[in-house]
Amino acid sequence: MTEVSVTKEDAVTSGDLVVLKSVNKHFGALHVLQDIDLTIARGEVVVVIGPSGSGKSTLCRTINRLETIDEGAITIDGKPLPQEGKALARLRADVGMVFQSFNLFAHKTVLENVMLGQIKVRKVDKAKAEEKARALLDRVGVGTQADKYPAQLSGGQQQRVAIARALAMDPKVMLFDEPTSALDPEMINEVLEVMQQLARDGMTMIVVTHEMGFARSAANRVVFMADGRIVEEAAPDQFFSNPRSDRAKDFLSKIL
Ligand code: ADP
Ligand code: MG
Repeated sequence: MTEVSVTKEDAVTSGDLVVLKSVNKHFGALHVLQDIDLTIARGEVVVVIGPSGSGKSTLCRTINRLETIDEGAITIDGKPLPQEGKALARLRADVGMVFQSFNLFAHKTVLENVMLGQIKVRKVDKAKAEEKARALLDRVGVGTQADKYPAQLSGGQQQRVAIARALAMDPKVMLFDEPTSALDPEMINEVLEVMQQLARDGMTMIVVTHEMGFARSAANRVVFMADGRIVEEAAPDQFFSNPRSDRAKDFLSKIL
């Protein structure tokens, strides 16, 4: 991975990249995010875990403004989230997002999927976009699939294309929302390995996952959510060996 040259140690010391302050959000009567304070340093890898329905996906979606918030503030690299227009499109490009369900463009080839955003949002010329797309597809191990359509690829390959597509925008931070939950078991590791490498190369990452092995080996910090709140935050070793809250103890007893 050539794009990111800083080491994790350098990166973590150079400031906060994503800051959420007293963020609150409702869906009608449901208070889905409650007083969320969360700061993510440059180069940091934060794994978000918690029971289904606790607000993890909504949290991710507020960070690239797929969802609005009712109260509080979110800044990316010191800038508040833009409300609309071109500034919002650029913000979305700064925040790479990988979903459970791949979300590739079905009628575009793998190569076109990774070129499109570069051309439309970043205004990169076609030859440069193609060169970068091919390099990224190689990097995630699907270079030979460039001319196929998404449906011709396995789930693990499609998810790696989705990661390449997000990386093509040179995001400042990558959000992963249960990126391996829809995959057959034998394909989970090939996606986690790409994410591990990205983490080692210093990418700032927020990862919602149930893969506790990944959390232990890649995360700088685990954030445990329940009922719309951050209940506990700790280094992975500390969190897994000695969770403080009853909610976290209960959750871990069910999944480990
Ligand atoms: P998680 O990702 O932790 O499972 P979500 O953020 O998806 O949790 O959802 C949190 C809660 O918000 C759930 O109760 C869910 O049903 C509700 N919810 C999510 N999206 C919407 C929406 N667009 N409209 C209404 N309720 C929603
Ligand atoms: Mg979710």
